[in-house]
Amino acid sequence: MKVVYIIELTIAAILFLIMTIAMFTRKTKRLRIALTVILLDLCIVGYVGYSYMQEEPIMTLKGQPIVQLEVNQKYEELGAQVQYHEKDVSNDVKVTGEVDTQKPGEYTIEYQYFYGRDKVKEIERTVKVKDCTSPKIELKGKEEMCLYENEEYEEPGYVVEDNVDENLTEKVKIEKKKIDEMKYELIYTVEDSSGNKAEAKRTVTLKKVEKIETEQNEEDTPTSNNGVIYLTFDDGPSLSSTPKILDILKEEGVKATFFILNYDTNGEVLVKRIVNEGHSIGIHGYSHDYKKIYQSVDSYMENITKLQDKIKKSTGVTTNLTRFPGGSSNTISSFNPKIMTKLTKEVVKRGFRYYDWNVSSGDAGEAKNRDEVYQNVIKDLYRNGNNIVLMHDFSGNNKTIEALRSIIQYGKQKGYVFKAITEDTPMLTHKVNN
Ligand SMILES: [Zn+2]
Repeated sequence: MKVVYIIELTIAAILFLIMTIAMFTRKTKRLRIALTVILLDLCIVGYVGYSYMQEEPIMTLKGQPIVQLEVNQKYEELGAQVQYHEKDVSNDVKVTGEVDTQKPGEYTIEYQYFYGRDKVKEIERTVKVKDCTSPKIELKGKEEMCLYENEEYEEPGYVVEDNVDENLTEKVKIEKKKIDEMKYELIYTVEDSSGNKAEAKRTVTLKKVEKIETEQNEEDTPTSNNGVIYLTFDDGPSLSSTPKILDILKEEGVKATFFILNYDTNGEVLVKRIVNEGHSIGIHGYSHDYKKIYQSVDSYMENITKLQDKIKKSTGVTTNLTRFPGGSSNTISSFNPKIMTKLTKEVVKRGFRYYDWNVSSGDAGEAKNRDEVYQNVIKDLYRNGNNIVLMHDFSGNNKTIEALRSIIQYGKQKGYVFKAITEDTPMLTHKVNN
Protein backbone atom coordinates (compact mmCIF):
# COMPACT_ATOMS: atom_id res chain seq x y z
CA MET A 1 0.00 0.00 0.00
CA LYS A 2 1.32 3.38 -1.01
CA VAL A 3 2.38 5.79 1.76
CA VAL A 4 0.11 8.48 0.25
CA TYR A 5 -2.90 6.22 0.79
CA ILE A 6 -1.88 5.51 4.38
CA ILE A 7 -1.49 9.24 5.16
CA GLU A 8 -4.78 10.01 3.45
CA LEU A 9 -6.65 7.25 5.23
CA THR A 10 -5.07 8.25 8.57
CA ILE A 11 -6.32 11.79 8.05
CA ALA A 12 -9.76 10.36 7.21
CA ALA A 13 -9.73 8.27 10.40
CA ILE A 14 -8.78 11.27 12.57
CA LEU A 15 -11.53 13.33 10.95
CA PHE A 16 -13.99 10.49 11.60
CA LEU A 17 -12.94 10.49 15.28
CA ILE A 18 -13.41 14.30 15.53
CA MET A 19 -16.82 13.93 13.91
CA THR A 20 -17.88 11.17 16.33
CA ILE A 21 -16.84 13.29 19.35
CA ALA A 22 -18.71 16.25 17.87
CA MET A 23 -21.86 14.15 17.40
CA PHE A 24 -21.97 13.19 21.03
CA THR A 25 -21.67 16.79 22.34
CA ARG A 26 -25.02 17.69 20.71
CA LYS A 27 -24.36 21.33 20.10
CA THR A 28 -25.73 22.76 16.90
CA LYS A 29 -22.59 24.58 15.96
CA ARG A 30 -20.48 21.55 16.55
CA LEU A 31 -22.96 19.45 14.56
CA ARG A 32 -22.44 21.67 11.59
CA ILE A 33 -18.72 21.31 11.91
CA ALA A 34 -19.19 17.57 12.22
CA LEU A 35 -21.23 17.38 9.00
CA THR A 36 -18.60 19.39 7.13
CA VAL A 37 -15.95 17.07 8.40
CA ILE A 38 -17.92 13.99 7.31
CA LEU A 39 -18.23 15.42 3.83
CA LEU A 40 -14.50 16.09 3.72
CA ASP A 41 -13.85 12.63 5.04
CA LEU A 42 -16.03 11.01 2.36
CA CYS A 43 -14.16 12.99 -0.27
CA ILE A 44 -10.80 11.73 0.95
CA VAL A 45 -11.92 8.09 1.20
CA GLY A 46 -13.56 8.35 -2.22
CA TYR A 47 -10.41 9.79 -3.73
CA VAL A 48 -8.22 7.12 -2.22
CA GLY A 49 -10.55 4.40 -3.48
CA TYR A 50 -10.65 5.86 -6.97
CA SER A 51 -6.89 6.24 -7.16
CA TYR A 52 -6.47 2.63 -6.07
CA MET A 53 -8.84 1.42 -8.76
CA GLN A 54 -7.08 3.46 -11.44
CA GLU A 55 -3.67 2.12 -10.68
CA GLU A 56 -2.14 0.15 -13.59
CA PRO A 57 0.23 -2.77 -13.43
CA ILE A 58 3.82 -1.96 -14.29
CA MET A 59 5.18 -4.44 -16.79
CA THR A 60 8.79 -4.76 -17.89
CA LEU A 61 10.62 -7.38 -19.94
CA LYS A 62 13.31 -9.40 -18.31
CA GLY A 63 16.20 -9.32 -20.75
CA GLN A 64 16.38 -7.42 -24.04
CA PRO A 65 13.32 -6.41 -26.09
CA ILE A 66 15.17 -7.50 -29.25
CA VAL A 67 17.10 -10.72 -29.07
CA GLN A 68 19.47 -11.84 -31.84
CA LEU A 69 20.21 -15.52 -32.16
CA GLU A 70 22.30 -17.60 -34.49
CA VAL A 71 20.50 -20.61 -36.01
CA ASN A 72 20.37 -23.54 -33.59
CA GLN A 73 21.39 -21.35 -30.69
CA LYS A 74 19.06 -21.98 -27.75
CA TYR A 75 16.42 -19.37 -26.97
CA GLU A 76 15.98 -18.85 -23.29
CA GLU A 77 12.63 -17.40 -22.18
CA LEU A 78 13.32 -14.90 -19.41
CA GLY A 79 9.70 -13.77 -19.08
CA ALA A 80 8.35 -10.40 -17.92
CA GLN A 81 8.08 -8.76 -14.57
CA VAL A 82 4.77 -7.27 -13.38
CA GLN A 83 4.16 -5.10 -10.31
CA TYR A 84 0.52 -4.52 -9.45
CA HIS A 85 -0.53 -2.69 -6.31
CA GLU A 86 3.04 -2.95 -5.00
CA LYS A 87 2.97 -6.71 -5.41
CA ASP A 88 5.06 -8.91 -7.72
CA VAL A 89 2.58 -10.84 -9.89
CA SER A 90 5.07 -11.96 -12.54
CA ASN A 91 3.93 -15.57 -12.24
CA ASP A 92 0.51 -14.67 -13.65
CA VAL A 93 1.91 -13.42 -16.95
CA LYS A 94 0.68 -15.32 -19.99
CA VAL A 95 3.41 -15.88 -22.59
CA THR A 96 2.47 -16.68 -26.20
CA GLY A 97 4.56 -17.20 -29.34
CA GLU A 98 7.26 -19.65 -30.28
CA VAL A 99 10.75 -19.42 -31.65
CA ASP A 100 11.94 -22.00 -34.17
CA THR A 101 15.66 -21.65 -33.79
CA GLN A 102 16.26 -23.97 -36.75
CA LYS A 103 14.64 -21.56 -39.17
CA PRO A 104 15.99 -18.09 -39.80
CA GLY A 105 13.32 -15.41 -39.36
CA GLU A 106 11.74 -12.88 -36.99
CA TYR A 107 9.59 -14.17 -34.15
CA THR A 108 7.36 -12.24 -31.73
CA ILE A 109 6.74 -13.29 -28.15
CA GLU A 110 3.73 -11.71 -26.42
CA TYR A 111 3.42 -11.17 -22.69
CA GLN A 112 -0.06 -10.46 -21.27
CA TYR A 113 -1.26 -9.73 -17.77
CA PHE A 114 -5.01 -9.70 -17.14
CA TYR A 115 -6.36 -7.56 -14.32
CA GLY A 116 -9.47 -5.72 -13.17
CA ARG A 117 -12.60 -6.94 -14.85
CA ASP A 118 -11.37 -7.33 -18.43
CA LYS A 119 -8.28 -5.24 -18.69
CA VAL A 120 -5.03 -6.46 -20.14
CA LYS A 121 -1.54 -5.11 -20.07
CA GLU A 122 0.74 -6.42 -22.80
CA ILE A 123 4.22 -6.08 -24.20
CA GLU A 124 6.26 -7.84 -26.88
CA ARG A 125 9.71 -9.12 -27.52
CA THR A 126 11.24 -9.68 -30.96
CA VAL A 127 13.55 -12.62 -31.49
CA LYS A 128 15.62 -12.53 -34.66
CA VAL A 129 17.06 -15.87 -35.72
CA LYS A 130 19.81 -15.40 -38.24
CA ASP A 131 21.91 -17.79 -40.26
CA CYS A 132 25.38 -16.27 -40.27
CA THR A 133 27.22 -19.50 -40.94
CA SER A 134 28.50 -20.04 -44.45
CA PRO A 135 28.08 -23.39 -46.14
CA LYS A 136 31.16 -25.49 -46.74
CA ILE A 137 32.17 -26.98 -50.07
CA GLU A 138 34.20 -30.10 -49.72
CA LEU A 139 35.97 -31.18 -52.86
CA LYS A 140 36.41 -34.84 -53.54
CA GLY A 141 39.62 -35.79 -55.25
CA LYS A 142 42.67 -33.59 -55.29
CA GLU A 143 42.65 -29.81 -55.13
CA GLU A 144 45.56 -29.76 -57.51
CA MET A 145 44.98 -32.07 -60.39
CA CYS A 146 47.31 -33.02 -63.14
CA LEU A 147 46.08 -34.17 -66.52
CA TYR A 148 47.64 -34.98 -69.79
CA GLU A 149 46.58 -32.41 -72.33
CA ASN A 150 44.71 -35.03 -74.31
CA GLU A 151 43.07 -36.50 -71.25
CA GLU A 152 39.51 -35.63 -70.54
CA TYR A 153 38.75 -33.85 -67.27
CA GLU A 154 36.33 -35.79 -65.14
CA GLU A 155 34.87 -34.00 -62.18
CA PRO A 156 35.71 -36.01 -59.05
CA GLY A 157 32.74 -34.38 -57.32
CA TYR A 158 32.02 -32.30 -54.24
CA VAL A 159 29.66 -32.09 -51.28
CA VAL A 160 28.18 -29.02 -49.62
CA GLU A 161 27.38 -28.93 -45.95
CA ASP A 162 25.27 -26.25 -44.34
CA ASN A 163 23.68 -25.72 -40.93
CA VAL A 164 20.30 -24.82 -42.44
CA ASP A 165 19.87 -25.68 -46.12
CA GLU A 166 19.75 -29.13 -47.55
CA ASN A 167 20.60 -30.09 -51.10
CA LEU A 168 22.99 -27.19 -51.63
CA THR A 169 25.28 -29.60 -53.45
CA GLU A 170 22.99 -29.36 -56.48
CA LYS A 171 23.28 -25.58 -56.49
CA VAL A 172 27.02 -25.38 -56.84
CA LYS A 173 28.18 -23.36 -59.81
CA ILE A 174 31.47 -24.17 -61.44
CA GLU A 175 33.38 -21.56 -63.32
CA LYS A 176 36.47 -22.30 -65.34
CA LYS A 177 39.18 -19.68 -65.20
CA LYS A 178 42.13 -19.95 -67.46
CA ILE A 179 45.44 -19.13 -65.82
CA ASP A 180 47.67 -19.90 -68.75
CA GLU A 181 47.85 -22.28 -71.69
CA MET A 182 48.64 -25.25 -69.48
CA LYS A 183 46.76 -24.38 -66.35
CA TYR A 184 43.25 -23.48 -65.32
CA GLU A 185 41.31 -23.04 -62.15
CA LEU A 186 37.85 -24.39 -61.38
CA ILE A 187 35.97 -22.14 -59.00
CA TYR A 188 33.07 -23.73 -57.14
CA THR A 189 30.61 -21.33 -55.53
CA VAL A 190 27.37 -21.75 -53.64
CA GLU A 191 25.05 -19.53 -51.63
CA ASP A 192 22.66 -20.59 -48.89
CA SER A 193 19.12 -19.25 -48.44
CA SER A 194 20.39 -16.51 -46.12
CA GLY A 195 22.93 -15.31 -48.65
CA ASN A 196 26.00 -16.77 -46.99
CA LYS A 197 28.49 -17.70 -49.64
CA ALA A 198 31.13 -20.35 -49.94
CA GLU A 199 33.87 -20.92 -52.44
CA ALA A 200 36.33 -23.67 -53.24
CA LYS A 201 39.00 -23.92 -55.87
CA ARG A 202 40.69 -26.65 -57.77
CA THR A 203 43.59 -26.13 -60.10
CA VAL A 204 44.13 -28.32 -63.09
CA THR A 205 47.56 -28.44 -64.65
CA LEU A 206 47.90 -29.91 -68.09
CA LYS A 207 50.96 -31.89 -68.98
CA LYS A 208 52.30 -32.22 -72.46
CA VAL A 209 52.01 -35.74 -73.72
CA GLU A 210 55.47 -37.09 -73.37
CA LYS A 211 57.01 -39.10 -76.09
CA ILE A 212 55.12 -42.28 -75.56
CA GLU A 213 56.85 -45.32 -74.12
CA THR A 214 56.38 -47.98 -76.71
CA GLU A 215 57.52 -51.49 -77.17
CA GLN A 216 58.40 -50.65 -80.70
CA ASN A 217 60.91 -52.90 -82.35
CA GLU A 218 63.00 -51.71 -85.21
CA GLU A 219 61.04 -53.80 -87.68
CA ASP A 220 57.77 -52.28 -86.44
CA THR A 221 58.87 -48.74 -87.21
CA PRO A 222 57.44 -47.62 -90.50
CA THR A 223 60.27 -47.54 -92.95
CA SER A 224 58.63 -44.97 -95.14
CA ASN A 225 58.76 -41.33 -94.32
CA ASN A 226 55.11 -41.45 -93.48
CA GLY A 227 53.31 -42.41 -90.37
CA VAL A 228 50.53 -44.83 -89.67
CA ILE A 229 47.12 -43.77 -88.42
CA TYR A 230 45.13 -46.10 -86.21
CA LEU A 231 41.62 -44.71 -85.90
CA THR A 232 40.04 -45.97 -82.69
CA PHE A 233 36.46 -45.59 -81.53
CA ASP A 234 35.52 -45.99 -77.84
CA ASP A 235 32.32 -46.43 -75.89
CA GLY A 236 30.25 -48.00 -78.70
CA PRO A 237 28.52 -49.70 -80.26
CA SER A 238 25.60 -47.30 -80.67
CA LEU A 239 22.76 -47.53 -83.13
CA SER A 240 23.01 -43.88 -84.09
CA SER A 241 26.77 -43.52 -84.62
CA THR A 242 28.42 -46.86 -85.29
CA PRO A 243 26.62 -47.72 -88.58
CA LYS A 244 27.41 -44.29 -90.05
CA ILE A 245 31.06 -44.58 -89.07
CA LEU A 246 31.23 -48.08 -90.56
CA ASP A 247 29.70 -46.75 -93.79
CA ILE A 248 32.32 -44.01 -94.12
CA LEU A 249 35.16 -46.41 -93.33
CA LYS A 250 33.85 -48.79 -95.98
CA GLU A 251 33.54 -46.06 -98.60
CA GLU A 252 37.04 -44.82 -97.85
CA GLY A 253 38.48 -48.35 -97.70
CA VAL A 254 39.96 -47.75 -94.28
CA LYS A 255 40.22 -50.19 -91.36
CA ALA A 256 39.84 -49.04 -87.78
CA THR A 257 39.55 -50.35 -84.22
CA PHE A 258 36.51 -50.32 -81.95
CA PHE A 259 37.02 -50.52 -78.19
CA ILE A 260 33.53 -51.48 -77.18
CA LEU A 261 31.37 -51.65 -74.07
CA ASN A 262 28.65 -54.18 -73.26
CA TYR A 263 25.92 -54.37 -75.90
CA ASP A 264 22.39 -55.67 -76.41
CA THR A 265 20.95 -57.67 -79.30
CA ASN A 266 20.85 -54.60 -81.56
CA GLY A 267 24.45 -53.89 -80.66
CA GLU A 268 25.38 -57.47 -81.45
CA VAL A 269 24.47 -56.91 -85.09
CA LEU A 270 26.94 -54.01 -85.15
CA VAL A 271 29.64 -56.00 -83.38
CA LYS A 272 29.31 -58.69 -86.04
CA ARG A 273 29.40 -56.09 -88.78
CA ILE A 274 32.59 -54.54 -87.31
CA VAL A 275 34.32 -57.91 -87.47
CA ASN A 276 32.90 -58.88 -90.87
CA GLU A 277 34.09 -55.66 -92.45
CA GLY A 278 37.67 -56.32 -91.35
CA HIS A 279 37.96 -53.93 -88.44
CA SER A 280 39.50 -54.83 -85.12
CA ILE A 281 37.43 -55.26 -82.06
CA GLY A 282 38.88 -54.42 -78.66
CA ILE A 283 37.64 -54.47 -75.10
CA HIS A 284 36.90 -51.21 -73.37
CA GLY A 285 34.97 -53.01 -70.66
CA TYR A 286 31.66 -54.57 -69.77
CA SER A 287 31.04 -51.47 -67.66
CA HIS A 288 32.56 -47.98 -67.85
CA ASP A 289 31.80 -47.17 -64.23
CA TYR A 290 35.16 -46.09 -62.80
CA LYS A 291 34.08 -46.64 -59.20
CA LYS A 292 33.20 -50.25 -59.91
CA ILE A 293 35.85 -51.33 -62.35
CA TYR A 294 38.84 -49.78 -60.57
CA GLN A 295 37.75 -51.08 -57.21
CA SER A 296 40.18 -53.99 -57.37
CA VAL A 297 42.34 -55.99 -59.75
CA ASP A 298 39.71 -58.72 -59.70
CA SER A 299 36.81 -56.45 -60.54
CA TYR A 300 38.77 -54.98 -63.47
CA MET A 301 39.79 -58.36 -64.80
CA GLU A 302 36.23 -59.59 -64.53
CA ASN A 303 35.07 -56.47 -66.37
CA ILE A 304 37.22 -57.29 -69.39
CA THR A 305 36.98 -61.09 -69.42
CA LYS A 306 33.19 -60.95 -69.21
CA LEU A 307 33.10 -58.84 -72.38
CA GLN A 308 35.82 -60.93 -74.01
CA ASP A 309 33.63 -64.02 -73.57
CA LYS A 310 30.59 -62.24 -74.92
CA ILE A 311 32.45 -61.03 -78.03
CA LYS A 312 33.72 -64.56 -78.56
CA LYS A 313 30.15 -65.87 -78.46
CA SER A 314 28.88 -63.18 -80.85
CA THR A 315 31.68 -63.26 -83.40
CA GLY A 316 33.90 -66.26 -82.77
CA VAL A 317 36.82 -63.86 -82.26
CA THR A 318 38.89 -63.91 -79.10
CA THR A 319 40.29 -60.44 -78.74
CA ASN A 320 43.12 -59.53 -76.39
CA LEU A 321 43.13 -55.87 -77.35
CA THR A 322 42.04 -53.57 -74.54
CA ARG A 323 41.82 -49.94 -73.65
CA PHE A 324 41.42 -48.72 -70.07
CA PRO A 325 38.40 -46.48 -69.50
CA GLY A 326 40.00 -43.06 -68.92
CA GLY A 327 43.30 -44.37 -70.31
CA SER A 328 46.11 -45.95 -68.29
CA SER A 329 47.20 -42.45 -67.24
CA ASN A 330 43.86 -41.69 -65.60
CA THR A 331 43.76 -40.20 -62.11
CA ILE A 332 40.04 -40.77 -61.67
CA SER A 333 40.97 -44.15 -60.19
CA SER A 334 43.03 -42.47 -57.46
CA PHE A 335 40.37 -43.42 -54.91
CA ASN A 336 42.17 -46.76 -55.16
CA PRO A 337 45.86 -45.85 -54.90
CA LYS A 338 48.27 -47.59 -57.30
CA ILE A 339 45.47 -49.57 -59.00
CA MET A 340 46.64 -48.51 -62.47
CA THR A 341 50.22 -49.52 -61.65
CA LYS A 342 48.93 -52.97 -60.74
CA LEU A 343 46.47 -53.28 -63.64
CA THR A 344 48.87 -52.22 -66.39
CA LYS A 345 51.16 -55.06 -65.30
CA GLU A 346 48.38 -57.55 -64.64
CA VAL A 347 46.62 -57.26 -68.00
CA VAL A 348 49.87 -57.79 -69.89
CA LYS A 349 50.76 -60.72 -67.63
CA ARG A 350 47.43 -62.29 -68.52
CA GLY A 351 48.07 -62.01 -72.22
CA PHE A 352 46.12 -58.83 -72.96
CA ARG A 353 47.55 -55.80 -74.71
CA TYR A 354 46.42 -52.30 -73.95
CA TYR A 355 46.49 -49.23 -76.13
CA ASP A 356 46.26 -45.62 -75.04
CA TRP A 357 46.46 -42.87 -77.61
CA ASN A 358 48.80 -40.11 -78.68
CA VAL A 359 46.29 -38.12 -80.71
CA SER A 360 43.00 -37.07 -79.14
CA SER A 361 40.09 -35.78 -81.18
CA GLY A 362 38.59 -34.25 -78.04
CA ASP A 363 35.18 -35.40 -79.23
CA ALA A 364 34.11 -36.47 -75.74
CA GLY A 365 35.20 -33.21 -74.25
CA GLU A 366 36.31 -29.82 -75.45
CA ALA A 367 35.73 -30.15 -79.21
CA LYS A 368 32.48 -28.35 -79.96
CA ASN A 369 32.01 -29.12 -83.63
CA ARG A 370 33.31 -31.07 -86.61
CA ASP A 371 36.01 -28.49 -87.37
CA GLU A 372 37.48 -28.72 -83.91
CA VAL A 373 37.49 -32.52 -84.05
CA TYR A 374 39.23 -32.32 -87.41
CA GLN A 375 41.81 -29.77 -86.24
CA ASN A 376 42.52 -31.67 -83.02
CA VAL A 377 43.39 -34.78 -84.99
CA ILE A 378 45.41 -33.36 -87.83
CA LYS A 379 47.48 -30.93 -85.77
CA ASP A 380 48.94 -33.70 -83.62
CA LEU A 381 49.81 -36.30 -86.23
CA TYR A 382 53.37 -37.63 -86.11
CA ARG A 383 54.63 -37.85 -89.65
CA ASN A 384 57.09 -40.61 -88.92
CA GLY A 385 55.44 -42.75 -86.30
CA ASN A 386 52.37 -44.54 -85.11
CA ASN A 387 49.37 -42.36 -84.46
CA ILE A 388 46.67 -43.87 -82.32
CA VAL A 389 43.74 -41.51 -82.61
CA LEU A 390 41.12 -41.42 -79.85
CA MET A 391 37.56 -40.93 -81.05
CA HIS A 392 34.16 -42.10 -79.85
CA ASP A 393 31.17 -43.78 -81.48
CA PHE A 394 28.79 -43.29 -78.59
CA SER A 395 25.26 -42.27 -79.41
CA GLY A 396 24.73 -38.82 -80.94
CA ASN A 397 28.40 -38.05 -81.59
CA ASN A 398 27.68 -36.26 -84.85
CA LYS A 399 30.71 -34.03 -84.88
CA THR A 400 32.99 -37.03 -85.25
CA ILE A 401 30.81 -38.60 -87.93
CA GLU A 402 30.94 -35.30 -89.82
CA ALA A 403 34.70 -34.87 -89.41
CA LEU A 404 35.70 -38.47 -90.13
CA ARG A 405 35.80 -38.35 -93.91
CA SER A 406 37.87 -35.15 -93.95
CA ILE A 407 40.33 -36.66 -91.47
CA ILE A 408 40.73 -39.78 -93.61
CA GLN A 409 41.13 -37.73 -96.79
CA TYR A 410 43.72 -35.46 -95.14
CA GLY A 411 45.65 -38.52 -93.94
CA LYS A 412 45.62 -40.11 -97.36
CA GLN A 413 46.68 -36.90 -99.02
CA LYS A 414 49.63 -36.52 -96.64
CA GLY A 415 50.72 -40.10 -97.29
CA TYR A 416 49.69 -41.75 -94.04
CA VAL A 417 48.66 -45.38 -94.01
CA PHE A 418 45.50 -46.38 -92.12
CA LYS A 419 45.55 -49.60 -90.17
CA ALA A 420 43.48 -51.46 -87.61
CA ILE A 421 45.25 -52.38 -84.39
CA THR A 422 46.21 -56.06 -84.15
CA GLU A 423 48.14 -57.98 -81.54
CA ASP A 424 51.24 -57.24 -83.59
CA THR A 425 50.77 -53.51 -83.21
CA PRO A 426 53.26 -52.20 -80.64
CA MET A 427 51.54 -51.18 -77.45
CA LEU A 428 51.29 -47.46 -77.08
CA THR A 429 50.92 -46.50 -73.46
CA HIS A 430 50.69 -43.41 -71.34
CA LYS A 431 52.72 -42.83 -68.24
CA VAL A 432 50.84 -44.31 -65.31
CA ASN A 433 49.85 -41.71 -62.72
CA ASN A 434 48.25 -43.88 -60.11
ZN1 LIG B 1 35.52 -44.57 -72.61
